[in-house]
Amino acid sequence: MSGASNAEVLKKSKPKEEMAKRPPGKPKGSVFPILRRLLSYTYPHRGYYLLLIVGFVLSSAFSLVPPWLIRIALDQYLNPEGVQKLWMISGLMIGFSVLQGAVDYFNRYLSESRGQQIVYTIRQNTYRHLLSLSFSYFDHARTGDIMSRVTADAETLQVFFGFAVVHLVNNTLFLLGVFGVMFIWSPYLALLYLGILPFFIFGITRYAFIVRPAFAKTRKALGDLTNTIREQLQGIQVIKIFGREKESTATVKEMNDRYVDVNLEAGKISSFWMPFVTVLVGVSTGLIIWFAGRLVIQEVLTIGILIGFTTYIGMMMRPIRQTGMLVGQVINAAASAERIFEVMDTQPDVDDLPGATELAAVKGDVEYRDVSFGYASGNLVLHSVSFTARAGETVAIVGPTGAGKSTLIHLLPRFYDATAGSVLIDGKDIRKSTVESLRRHIGIVLQHTFLFNLSVKDNIAFGQPDVDIVTIRNAAKAAEIDDFIMSLPLQYETTIGERGVRLSGGQRQRIAIARTLLMDPPILILDEPTSSVDAETDEKIQKAIARLCENRTVFVIAHRLWTIQNADRILVLQNGEVVQFGTPQKLVEEDGLFRDIYTLQVDSENFDLGPSTEERGEE
Ligand code: ADP
Repeated sequence: MSGASNAEVLKKSKPKEEMAKRPPGKPKGSVFPILRRLLSYTYPHRGYYLLLIVGFVLSSAFSLVPPWLIRIALDQYLNPEGVQKLWMISGLMIGFSVLQGAVDYFNRYLSESRGQQIVYTIRQNTYRHLLSLSFSYFDHARTGDIMSRVTADAETLQVFFGFAVVHLVNNTLFLLGVFGVMFIWSPYLALLYLGILPFFIFGITRYAFIVRPAFAKTRKALGDLTNTIREQLQGIQVIKIFGREKESTATVKEMNDRYVDVNLEAGKISSFWMPFVTVLVGVSTGLIIWFAGRLVIQEVLTIGILIGFTTYIGMMMRPIRQTGMLVGQVINAAASAERIFEVMDTQPDVDDLPGATELAAVKGDVEYRDVSFGYASGNLVLHSVSFTARAGETVAIVGPTGAGKSTLIHLLPRFYDATAGSVLIDGKDIRKSTVESLRRHIGIVLQHTFLFNLSVKDNIAFGQPDVDIVTIRNAAKAAEIDDFIMSLPLQYETTIGERGVRLSGGQRQRIAIARTLLMDPPILILDEPTSSVDAETDEKIQKAIARLCENRTVFVIAHRLWTIQNADRILVLQNGEVVQFGTPQKLVEEDGLFRDIYTLQVDSENFDLGPSTEERGEE
């Protein structure tokens, strides 16, 4: 497809909703295969991840040292003889903290940077794959949904790779280390502590499976509230004209109430489960003091071990709590990954067939041979359409709204593939050529031109960054838009589009014509605007279109008398069938649909056969 038509395509497939930040959730399928596939992305970075594991082992080991030092200090040096040695203990304590800080810095940086790298690749691959998907995909998919897959879901994966996975490993190593030391110090106390552990695990899983979903609900409710307010504000004029302020307030109130309700509910749940873990820590410390204290009195244990033990228990609180959150994040990541993989696993309906070759130079003969097509199976929109256009001819396609005119021309650049029959260019089935090379030879100017927030120059040269300004200006001159561009504040460097200078429909169309002139395709598809433009612009557009049509095979969905009269052939489409095909002179003489419409419309300035597809808002 051409650079010119890319933009149109984006516009045409742009549905209504805005990007919505998706609340996290659970995957539909099993978590483990998704995680396995997700983790395979770390493979190219395996060296770094191995390094990271070494970093975590060091960090965990360093963090085990201070309680051990406390124990030594308490048991051996907290007496008059030990005073001199105490400085050594404090020195070691400081030294290990500094070491741990340095290793943690390194770990954090490494995990964040690898996470960013991986998610960058996933985002880029997903977007690239999206662009390879066919029109049919975008007919059904919603833009908001696709956007949240590439952005919000990818962000969840960033948390997975940059934080959740690495901290799960780190916390596990740390906890194993603590238990190891505890067993060395006192197997009895360690076992006692292990006895309490199931309660911790219970608390953690509750947290992951009850508290997090409750918060996920609050995020969804906030999204609903935001969308409702946005929609009401967008329709503010209608609300005011019809005096529906009260109803509008009630609609927002309903969402607002719900948001408060789910928040209170989440608050209630988390208010219970968060302190639950704190209470458990208290209980276990109490038990340890009770059991261990007696052992100290009996001189089976030292006071250093007792204090060291309780210090370790305190240190275990954060990783244990965090594990619940991390497990929740891993489940969210699996849900997000599932949505991203869904996109990546979608195969384009229209793709290069095995053995497809480059379509080199094109003369421009086009033949539709018995072409039938339906968007959904069993519901044909085109029925056995056959006709031939010779290179350089202009074929005007006319017919009532919904007859299948747009569908017919969309088959030529293979936006969709014919259900039956074939389309041939220079006698070669278009499916035998690569999609990319086919579209390079077909220019498309649609009724409404999408302009990117770029300079006029870049909008015209869209997709061809190497074109020089002289060539761009020549195209703009031929498209009758150069004078206008030169009157803009920054001339060809002026930013246009949504966030730049707004252009009229006529000006946009002439920019699209300049774009296509620059591309210089042998075959051209033109969807004429139905909306009337002022006389001067109309004349300019006519001139520009006439130049654009020179020396190309042109298919134009014609709404204007002028275009129809100047076409070489006219194809009349009705209910997806070709009912007439021939020169304008011949068709005027024939009995049939064309003459009916023609005689009805001949005095009017616009040969308007009804609203366009886009005006009907169907695409
Ligand atoms: P025309 O251009 O002559 O107005 P179209 O080719 O746009 O007609 O539409 C022909 C028929 O195909 C209509 O019934 C229309 O509703 C249907 N149609 C068009 N585009 C799509 C689509 N993307 N998915 C499903 N049906 C479609």
